[in-house]
Amino acid sequence: MSTCTTHVDHPHTHGPDCGHVAVVHGDHTDYIHDGHAHREHDGHWDECELPHVVAEDHGDHLHGPDCGHETIQHGDHVDYLHDGHRHAAHGDHYDEH
Ligand SMILES: [Zn+2]
Ligand SMILES: [Zn+2]
Ligand SMILES: [Zn+2]
Ligand SMILES: [Zn+2]
Ligand SMILES: [Zn+2]
Ligand SMILES: [Zn+2]
Ligand SMILES: [Zn+2]
Repeated sequence: MSTCTTHVDHPHTHGPDCGHVAVVHGDHTDYIHDGHAHREHDGHWDECELPHVVAEDHGDHLHGPDCGHETIQHGDHVDYLHDGHRHAAHGDHYDEH
């Protein structure tokens, strides 16, 4: 499966302490960033399909039109900028986007 495209203009370097959610995928790590999964490849970052990752420890906060968090339109839904992550409502929980 080669659904990856190169993400151009990516000044951020993902790593263990970069603040993004990391998902170990066999021999490499995906970082949830800007609505995609990013993986290192030959000195650049490949943009891959987003895996399903539930936002852990979300607490009692419910995102909504007046919740105070910045929103980003992401395809057919809205992501909320929350503590440096993007959260999307999914059923009774939030996903990392
Ligand atoms: Zn990062
Ligand atoms: Zn990235
Ligand atoms: Zn690549
Ligand atoms: Zn919110
Ligand atoms: Zn999203
Ligand atoms: Zn959130
Ligand atoms: Zn979900």
